[in-house]
Amino acid sequence: MIQGKKVASRIPFIAGNWKMNKTIQGAKALAAAVVKASLNLAGSEIVLCPPFTALYEVAKTIEGSPVQLGAQDIFWEDSGAFTGEISGPMLRDAGCQYVIVGHSERRQIMGESDDIVSRKLKAALRNELHPILCLGETLEERERGLTFERIRAQLNLALRDLDQEEVAKIIIAYEPVWAIGTGRNATPEQAQEAHHYIRQILAERYGEELASCAIILYGGSVKAENAASLAEKEEVDGFLVGGASLEAESFVKIIKNSIEVKKR
Ligand code: PEP
Repeated sequence: MIQGKKVASRIPFIAGNWKMNKTIQGAKALAAAVVKASLNLAGSEIVLCPPFTALYEVAKTIEGSPVQLGAQDIFWEDSGAFTGEISGPMLRDAGCQYVIVGHSERRQIMGESDDIVSRKLKAALRNELHPILCLGETLEERERGLTFERIRAQLNLALRDLDQEEVAKIIIAYEPVWAIGTGRNATPEQAQEAHHYIRQILAERYGEELASCAIILYGGSVKAENAASLAEKEEVDGFLVGGASLEAESFVKIIKNSIEVKKR
């Protein structure tokens, strides 16, 4: 089985979600630039999540470096008549160690329910992939004072069939929907508060030890300019970065700023 990701010291964990961007050549070039910079980024965990078509080539590009590979989605069955879907064994075969599950774009545009998210989480774990589980409230939910209710519901539904050992392998990404790709990030205080709440739920369900070691990322318009102030918050262990991960320079700056702040 894969090792639990919950370690005593939570070093900055930065994942780049390239979404539906980059050809194979473009993906290789970006991955190579991140690998080059990663030599000076010790003390962080870096994960690149290219589109499916570029996974295998990016795996070869990052081989031997500390940079790791993640996919953006997974299907809940391992093989069969599911046209267009990609399974856990295929992702492992392509070189992935991680997979994003429940991204808000999939929940909103593709209509993924909490039930589907739960099935995908199980498929990832069954296939020895660390899921990066995304959750977060919409603007309407925040304005109606439903942020915490929504977070609790999403988390409880996603984790409902999992035991402590499985939950220990999951990275959680708090991604308020109103902050994704909008240029409007959550304030450090809003992120801290939500992460603290998520950790509290984990403690209630799986105990203090698991909760205190859980890696909880923030995602939503993270840039080089706001990474340090967000990373300053104790509960923020790193970032899931969309737009700003498409250029090596901005992505690497986010990693550098996070390492710098967490070292203090
Ligand atoms: C994301 O895709 O998970 C994300 C947070 O995107 P962006 O950084 O562009 O807001």
